This record gives sequence, C-alpha cells and structure tokens, in this order.
Amino acid sequence: MSEPTADLREWVAYLAESGVQELRIEGKPGPLDVVREELGECTRCKLHDGRTKIVFGVGNPQADLMFIGEGPGAEEDRRGEPFVGRAGKKLDEMIQAIGLSREQVYIANIVKCRPPNNRDPERDEIEACSPFLKKQIAAIAPRVIVTLGGPATKTILETKVGITRLRGEWAEFEGIPVMPTFHPAYLLRAYTKENRMSVWSDLKTARARIDDPEA
Ligand code: SF4
Repeated sequence: MSEPTADLREWVAYLAESGVQELRIEGKPGPLDVVREELGECTRCKLHDGRTKIVFGVGNPQADLMFIGEGPGAEEDRRGEPFVGRAGKKLDEMIQAIGLSREQVYIANIVKCRPPNNRDPERDEIEACSPFLKKQIAAIAPRVIVTLGGPATKTILETKVGITRLRGEWAEFEGIPVMPTFHPAYLLRAYTKENRMSVWSDLKTARARIDDPEA
C-alpha cells in the first residue's frame, strides 16, 4: 500500500482535531455485491415461504473454479451458506483433493432457498431463481464450472439428459467449460469405488483445464 500523501495526512489530522473519532472507507461494491443487492429479500417464488436464510453463495468472487449444486438443505438454510452439512464436508474433501480450498473456489446452487423436505426444485422455482445464478456466473467469470448432480447440470446445460450420461464429458455454458459430475450427497449414498473413481476423474479433468485451458 502506498504512503498517504501530505494532503491526506493533513485532512485526517484536521478531522481528528474536529472531534471525528471514526472514519470508514467503504469500497465500491463488486459485481457479485450488485447481484446480491438486486436479489434483495427475494419473494420471487414460493420457496421464500419456508426459508430461514437466503443461501446466496460463498467463496472467492474471482474464482477460477465454480461449483453449482441443487439447493440448500436444513443446515444450509439455518446458516445461510451452501454445502455445510455432510455433503458439504464431502465437497470440501473433493476440493482439497485437487489442491484447492473452499476459500479459493465459489459455491452456489440453482435455487437459493430450501425446497421443503429436500425435494428437487420445481421448474417455476428454477425459472425464478436461475437468472441470479447466471448473473453470479457472469460476475465471477470462472475458467471452469463443475455442476454437481442432475438438477444443476440440467439447468445449466438446458438438457433433459441424466447425469449418469453427462458426467465426465465437457460441455459449455456461455463459453465457459462445464464438467458435470455426481452430487456429493449422491456419492455418500452410493459410496462405491466406481462412483468415487468417476468423481475423482471428473475433478482431475476440471483441474487440468484450469491449469491449462487447452487441455
Ligand atoms: Fe427468490 Fe430464489 Fe428464494 Fe425463489 S429460491 S424466493 S427466486 S431467492
């Protein structure tokens, strides 16, 4: 950080002499802050009825890698943060396995309020909420997106094809490479060697693409 100029020092001294005790310098809101502000205390779909907190997303606003999941569960709804329950712990392990941390990536969902009883988000809910996810993607501009599970993959790729067929193959969302893989909650439910190897392979492929966009 550069040294304050003489003018700035004089101004601060003048404020102190005038009795000003606290000075806050607030930065310009970043593109993600603008999206959050536009979302507000959203009531655009029926999911707002049962939510405790909006789960906007978490992580590095300039992340190279963005994960997109389905929707908040009970713990996420309570804390206002995505992927903090058992599936979140598994996702953290997946992130660490490719040499990154939760703070280095960005994590969001296709809907930002908890669907009741952890059901899949419905079409009208996804239609109401996903424009904000798309604005988040534009604001972050990640090098690679990893979609976690069927609903996230179908939403981002606008397809009806199932995750079992799509995972492991590169796709694209507005020029950004997309690697679909299984949702960590599914992996926990079906903890087979084959599924673990599939997710590991997908993540390694995504990591290689971040390191070398031509890979
Ligand atoms: Fe708004 Fe999305 Fe929550 Fe629906 S799920 S109320 S669109 S923030």
